[in-house]
Amino acid sequence: MLQKYITMLREDIKEAMGRRCGLDELNNLIMLVGFLYVVAALFTKNKIFLLLGAAFVVLCYLRVFSKNVDKRKRENDFYMRYMGKVVLEARLLKLMTRMKCKSILDKEYVYFVCDECHQVIRVPKGKNKVNIRCPKCNHTFVKRT
Ligand SMILES: [Zn+2]
Repeated sequence: MLQKYITMLREDIKEAMGRRCGLDELNNLIMLVGFLYVVAALFTKNKIFLLLGAAFVVLCYLRVFSKNVDKRKRENDFYMRYMGKVVLEARLLKLMTRMKCKSILDKEYVYFVCDECHQVIRVPKGKNKVNIRCPKCNHTFVKRT
C-alpha cells in the first residue's frame, strides 16, 4: 500500500519534471533522505520516521511544482556550490572503484570532471596540455596531464 503510494508520487513528480525545473540535484537529495526515512519507518515501525519521510517528500513536491523556477535554481546552485564537490568526489570514487584499485595507482591516466555535465573523463597521462572533449556533452576544455 505504502509502496504503491510512493510509486504514485514518483510518477507525479516525473510528469512535473517535463514542465518545470524538475528533479535537480537538490531534489534528488531531498527525495533520497525522504526515502531513507520511509525505509527506516518500515523497519522500525516508528511513526516519527514516516512523518519525517513524508515531510521531505512534500518538500520535494513543493520544489518540483513551484512556479518560482529562478528561486529554486538559486537554491540548487547554492547546494551545488557547497555540496557539488562532494557529489563529484563520490562520482569519481565510484568510477575508481569500478576500475579497480589498480587504476587509482595507475600512472598512465589522469581523471578530470567535466565542468558542464560532471561526467568523469579519463585522459592518458604525459601529453602536457591537451584539448579534452567531453564525450557526453561535447564541452571542450584544456587541461595539463
Ligand atoms: Zn560534459
